[in-house]
Amino acid sequence: MKQHYRLIILGGGTAGISTANRMLSEDKNLTNDILIIEPRDDHYFQPGWPLVGSGEMKLESTRKPMSKVMPKGAGWLHESVRNVDPVKREVKAGSRTIKYDYLVVALGIELDYDAIEGASESLGKNGVCTNYIYDLVDYTYKTLQNVKTGNIVVTKPQSKIKGGVSAENSLFTMDEYVRDHDLDINIVFRSGSHEVFPVKRYSDNLVAQLDEKGIDYKLEQELVEVRGEHKEAVFKDLETGERQVVPFEMLVITPPMRGPSVLEGSGLLDPEGWVSVDQHTMMHNTYTTVFSLGDASSLPTFKMGSSVKSQMPILVKNLLERMNDQSPSHKYDGKTACPIATEYGHLILAEFDYNHIPEESTFLNQSDDKWLFYQFKKNMLPLMYWHALLKGKV
Ligand SMILES: Cc1cc2nc3c(=O)[nH]c(=O)nc-3n(C[C@H](O)[C@H](O)[C@H](O)COP(=O)(O)OP(=O)(O)OC[C@H]3O[C@@H](n4cnc5c(N)ncnc54)[C@H](O)[C@@H]3O)c2cc1C
Repeated sequence: MKQHYRLIILGGGTAGISTANRMLSEDKNLTNDILIIEPRDDHYFQPGWPLVGSGEMKLESTRKPMSKVMPKGAGWLHESVRNVDPVKREVKAGSRTIKYDYLVVALGIELDYDAIEGASESLGKNGVCTNYIYDLVDYTYKTLQNVKTGNIVVTKPQSKIKGGVSAENSLFTMDEYVRDHDLDINIVFRSGSHEVFPVKRYSDNLVAQLDEKGIDYKLEQELVEVRGEHKEAVFKDLETGERQVVPFEMLVITPPMRGPSVLEGSGLLDPEGWVSVDQHTMMHNTYTTVFSLGDASSLPTFKMGSSVKSQMPILVKNLLERMNDQSPSHKYDGKTACPIATEYGHLILAEFDYNHIPEESTFLNQSDDKWLFYQFKKNMLPLMYWHALLKGKV
């Protein structure tokens, strides 16, 4: 392996792999001059996990060996990044130190179950579920099939999260499952957020659905403790500080999340812990040889694979300009897409920009839940993910 690369990409997730493929197809001179640093053996299609949790997709179909998605023409260092020095332009990973001309940070987001007392040790038993860990997603659907009474409690933290509406997807499909099976179960939603959804065009329908379905939902409620053996969840009211104990038969946790802690002290993070980049060019605000996209970045949009789909081609153009000593001239407008299943077979497809102005891709009213959008997410999106987005073809 070389000691120096023209481009190093940190992270072989959605953003890292798609960026590497696109760079290689745009500039053949980069062949064998890009290094991806990624410790995992497998790559995951994470947007499939809520569908696995509701029994609509097979878990194994959301995973491929990392070796199968690594671009031909790029090197793979199968290690964790330990340190980045953007002044010396070097990365430490495993026992190696490698130098770069340019760096793309695509380290994703960190899950922080430990911020909830008792959560880590409770997961995967006593009805405590999460759709955010590959090995636990099957347990969600198994638990759903076994619950006969009591509360199903779905939680969402105040922090920024990836897959921003995955809790709502679980909430609505579980509600339908319970009604279809005529079960005496209450569906409870507790969210740390202060609003149901930030874009009025879509939140109107979501609030109407929560009300019509009789879902017991409350905002600004943060899950702070899980008492697994007693089947109790403790929530803190973010306004009053009061605590409320909610009994559950099934608890579906979306944990608090944070930016890449390995970069702390590197000078690359903003005060909130995200990689500090210009929201339009994705070039670092201090180090002009560094770019970032996806969940790790400070880009103020939803942390979604669909955001990466819009960011990646623009970042690639800007990075190529920067490599040719020009200023980046292409601008990302914050475009993202959030698919929200309101029941099995129906989905709202929210698409909007930084200003929360809808930017819809179809001629249909996407704020109205449609069968077609659900089929698209369930059947088309996985194919588009593996065969187009990851390959840099969008
Ligand atoms: C339950 C769930 C539901 C979702 N639903 C949707 C959806 O419906 N639609 C949608 O568009 N998106 C959805 N997403 C979000 C989507 O998966 C992410 O936004 C997308 O994967 C972001 O890409 P990324 O490359 O930034 O991060 P990731 O794809 O997570 O990749 C980050 C990579 O960095 C690696 N890494 C971490 N630390 C280090 C280190 N120290 N050294 C080297 N490598 C490291 C990781 O191993 C990982 O491979 C969902 C996600 C989840 C979990």
